[in-house]
Amino acid sequence: MKYRSTLLTLLAVSLAGNAATVSSPDSRLTLTTSIKDGKAVYSVSYDGKPILFDSPLGFESNIGNFSDNLTSVGSTTGDISRSFNQDRIKKSHIDWSAKSLTEEYSTPDGKKFTIQWEVGNNDIAFRYLIPAQGDTRSMIITKEATGYRFPDFTTTFLTPQSHAMIGWKRSKPSYEEFYSPDAPLDKPSQYGHGFTFPALFHVGDNGWALLTETGVDGGFCGSRLSDYKDGVFTVEFPMPEENNGNGTAAPGIPLPGKTPWRTITVGNELKPIVETTIPWNVVEPLYEATGEVRPGRGTWSWIIWQDNSINYEDQIKYIDLAADMGYENVLVDAAWDVNIGRDRMAQLAKYAKSKGVNLIVWYSSSGWWNDIVQSPVNVMSRPIPRKEEMKWLKSIGATGIKVDFFGGDKQETMRLYEDILSDANDYGISVIFHGCTMPRGWERMYPNYVGSEAVLASENLVFSQDFCDKAPFHAALHPFIRNAAGSMEYGGTVLNKRLDRTNEKGTIRRTTDAFEIATAILFQNPVQNFALAPNNLTDAPADAIQFMKDVPTTWDETLLVDGYPGKYVVLARRHADKWYIAGVNALDKPLKLTLDLPMLNAGDEATLYSEKKGKGMTASPLKIKNPGKVQVSIDPADGFVIVD
Ligand code: CA
Repeated sequence: MKYRSTLLTLLAVSLAGNAATVSSPDSRLTLTTSIKDGKAVYSVSYDGKPILFDSPLGFESNIGNFSDNLTSVGSTTGDISRSFNQDRIKKSHIDWSAKSLTEEYSTPDGKKFTIQWEVGNNDIAFRYLIPAQGDTRSMIITKEATGYRFPDFTTTFLTPQSHAMIGWKRSKPSYEEFYSPDAPLDKPSQYGHGFTFPALFHVGDNGWALLTETGVDGGFCGSRLSDYKDGVFTVEFPMPEENNGNGTAAPGIPLPGKTPWRTITVGNELKPIVETTIPWNVVEPLYEATGEVRPGRGTWSWIIWQDNSINYEDQIKYIDLAADMGYENVLVDAAWDVNIGRDRMAQLAKYAKSKGVNLIVWYSSSGWWNDIVQSPVNVMSRPIPRKEEMKWLKSIGATGIKVDFFGGDKQETMRLYEDILSDANDYGISVIFHGCTMPRGWERMYPNYVGSEAVLASENLVFSQDFCDKAPFHAALHPFIRNAAGSMEYGGTVLNKRLDRTNEKGTIRRTTDAFEIATAILFQNPVQNFALAPNNLTDAPADAIQFMKDVPTTWDETLLVDGYPGKYVVLARRHADKWYIAGVNALDKPLKLTLDLPMLNAGDEATLYSEKKGKGMTASPLKIKNPGKVQVSIDPADGFVIVD
């Protein structure tokens, strides 16, 4: 992994009185900071048009108020240039160039803190750095003033924070709520607890902005956005009721210390939002991977065959399915310890190995923060049993775990995520999180991290017909929001017509087969556990199965080709020298698009996967006539993939 960073001090910044202005390397994105009535504020514009008006900065703590009566002590600026390779996000090589601004502030009694900014062409990241204050070497941050003041014509694409301790076995919040697209700024959140990151804003003709945070590790809590109040959204800490009330809601840090990076991705169109790498640009790996980290494809019986399939015989069928598909993994879901037992799990792992398939094993995170009965429980929650378990997993040759049902965003829970990752790494085991918070730079920070759910995922297709009906909406939404900010373990691509083992009852899939294979490209996660069933080898279109055998899960490039959140989306992703261009239509009428695809050259013989009247989904040759242009027509709930 290459890492290079240079910091050069420049004077190309205007420091007029208490204001500082920094523009991106291409001069289109501008940050201005100032002090107004003793409060530190910042504003953001793109191409001269406002994205954020003067918005609050600072925080309150148990050693003083760092958000009022402030004076600016001084600032420095510089150039930042970082390049690194990353194998598990939307892009494999990242060059980050930004202007930096470091501005120091003082409180009336002489306490100091610094705001560190990086301003790239489409991304702003900032955080607070707090030095030791005399003999005081620790502090609790009780409240952040940090906020975002959008123009009043802005519309929002937000998902609410749930009440704590509700839902399945009191396991919420788990970032599994619905989004409201294009809602007014002042639309109240469903539960009155504001909204979770990432958050997308359409600032009318001025552009778009995606807010999130990154670099959150066991040393801080996860944060969220408040409801819109007095013209501003502010950063909020977890709710005291999370984690069954255990653990502090306010984060504690040592001094000198720092807060996580808050990020703002800005553009006059959606491309920079979908293509951003800001969650990874400002963080660094926290340790080296001890084992081989295996991105890859997998099968899992639970998604269609459900609880009753967690038995030895059915797992053999799914190992065989994984082997037939050429997949790397099989995921054995909840209650394997009861229904299969540890000795036979060892046999399963051995059988899987003989077929070239690795075992990923499910755990509940609990714990004292929910009522989950699906076992194993109380194994991942504390270090002694956890390390014993990792040792056993390694001994049977399992290479991954999926840990489910976490207790929220408190610092204590962030520490649990980090502890699980760190212990798993000691045994060469990769980690998927479910029923969990969203990742915050974790693909880069934790080398054995391979994905998080943190979305209403494929399991809801089984639970609810309404969710099946909304599948096109979600597929057209997530690439712009949730999946733009981090890996999303959705567990999709269903080729059954019905979400049931028999394929004859249960909820009804509304989408076409071409739509389903398109989501294998649209949804990005380094480990993809697809919702295929053994019967699909014979009852699904042969071309769809062949596509799913060949589909990669890691990407060298990702480009937004066209789309609007919740309506339709077309992405182009490159794996090695192959481009996969995938699109879906969530509108209720057919969509005709002329796609700009500069990667397609005249004379190229590409392959189009699409629905053909009377034939179902088929692969057909697509000869590129006009360089860089392809016309497609997509029916409602339909999709396509072009492979070149
Ligand atoms: Ca879930």
